[in-house]
Amino acid sequence: MSNERLTIAVQKSGRLSKESMKLLAACGVKFNIHEARLMAHSTSHPVDLLRVRDDDIPGLVMDGVVDLGLIGENVLEEERLERVIKKQPSGFNSLRRLDFGFCRLSVAVPKEVQYDGLPALAGKKIATTYPRILENYLKQQGINARTVMLTGSVEVAPRAGLADAICDLVSTGATLEANGLVEQEVIFRSQVQLIQREEALSDEKQALVTKLLARLDGVQLAKE
Ligand code: ATP
Ligand code: ZN
Repeated sequence: MSNERLTIAVQKSGRLSKESMKLLAACGVKFNIHEARLMAHSTSHPVDLLRVRDDDIPGLVMDGVVDLGLIGENVLEEERLERVIKKQPSGFNSLRRLDFGFCRLSVAVPKEVQYDGLPALAGKKIATTYPRILENYLKQQGINARTVMLTGSVEVAPRAGLADAICDLVSTGATLEANGLVEQEVIFRSQVQLIQREEALSDEKQALVTKLLARLDGVQLAKE
């Protein structure tokens, strides 16, 4: 017997959480959230929320552990590329691009370093949390550089002597500026996507997804 409740993975706490919950509420799906709990059961629909770190969301959908996920394209693409390399399941269906979580992944260099285009990165070390997206980009551009994987504090890597440049998420540029870095190349533009697992859902669940998408489109249309 399959679980007939639709499962949706969302970020538990972070930049995407509030908008993700607002979106579900706008679609008429109601929840009583207990802050400490991983799961939340909808009081209005056969829908369960799984509240996790955003990094876990693409894998949960690609492994078919959850039905839907709301996730930034930066995290989604990094996981997809990683899984392609490891020959693990990397399939999913993109249902909608949503109008929140906008940011860009950019290469930045210390302001005292002269930068005259991508070839300046040849032979350099670049610190990033997104090594697969960066390596993909560098390969496409024909630039040979090394990536240094850091899960946090990427912006201090050049000062700490760990790297010559960084590749990190930017929205306003204030963090770069505060760390004496100048944004030089935008390598990836990101927003949130609603994704669905690749394996087909039961007819009931798919019908519910279709209904939710119709409401979502109504909400998005009303905003324009
Ligand atoms: P978690 O604990 O869930 O792993 P996190 O610290 O990785 O959280 P957040 O800082 O909450 O993540 O960012 C989540 C997502 O928000 C990013 O992956 C990105 O898609 C989006 N985002 C939008 N603007 C920014 C920004 N200025 N900096 C970082 N992420 C941003
Ligand atoms: Zn994260």
